[in-house]
Amino acid sequence: MGTALVTGATSGIGLELVWQLAAARHDLVLVARDHQRLAVLAEDLYQVAGVGAQVLPADLSTAQGRQKVAQRLLRTGATGARSARGPRTAQEVARRPVDLLVNNAGFGLGQAFVGGDVDRERRALEVMVGAVMELSHAALPGMVERGHGAVLNIASLASLTAMGTYAAHKAWVRTFTEGLATELKGTGVSATVVCPGLTRTEFHERAHMEDVWPSLVWTDSQEVARQALDAVRRGQVICTPTLRYQAAAALLRLSPRWLVRRVAGHASSATRY
Ligand code: NAP
Repeated sequence: MGTALVTGATSGIGLELVWQLAAARHDLVLVARDHQRLAVLAEDLYQVAGVGAQVLPADLSTAQGRQKVAQRLLRTGATGARSARGPRTAQEVARRPVDLLVNNAGFGLGQAFVGGDVDRERRALEVMVGAVMELSHAALPGMVERGHGAVLNIASLASLTAMGTYAAHKAWVRTFTEGLATELKGTGVSATVVCPGLTRTEFHERAHMEDVWPSLVWTDSQEVARQALDAVRRGQVICTPTLRYQAAAALLRLSPRWLVRRVAGHASSATRY
């Protein structure tokens, strides 16, 4: 029943994680760019789920946005008094240390690297790699000092492929989390990486990707969030939601890389991750 900070809280997997964490009585710190959506979500969480939520709008592709969230994560001190009755207020949540950091914000580039927009490449790198590193760096010393806490990073099954810079960023997240999990052994703090396959969210629409996949390959975000939080509770390091994508991950690990490149190359030229 601690406090969880979720980046990319306004839609898709992040939004589902927020509601499932609220159902498990966690207070929330909500991070994304869309202030209006965050404010409506915080009010709904308070009214419907009876948990407190702090709204923390930030663009994680900017140094200023990442610093703002990092500053919030550095809070280790007084937990502050609770209201006599009812959920914590946003101000009360804002004074509490974060027990679970969820690095979820991300987006598909929707372009080839060669000839693509280099600013979009930079923003993707900052949101999906820079922010994951900086926010984990800010959150972990306090968690270790308190002797409990967890980091949950959302990577992708694409981390096992060769689908453009997106796959490279997600491979970084996966390897980074495995390294963290090893470093954190015995501290009471855990690190988990989730590698979802295709999941119905706003992701593909935002990146203007063609929907070339049959309906049966899609997972829903509720299932991804449920399996991700179960993995955190078990202290599991790598989690690939759904049996179908666990089989795909096993196949990708066993296949020769030339074959992975050939298949991934075909897929990424159709979809432009
Ligand atoms: P989504 O519905 O598009 O949600 C993305 C979230 O990230 C939104 O809340 C968005 O909020 C936030 N975000 C994007 N850019 C941001 C920025 N610069 N600063 C702060 N927040 C930002 O997509 P999703 O599928 O849920 O994606 C969540 C994670 O799952 C991503 O890391 C993605 O790579 C990963 N994933 C997705 C799939 C899939 O098939 N959907 C598969 C594997 C992995 P604002 O627009 O309000 O900022």
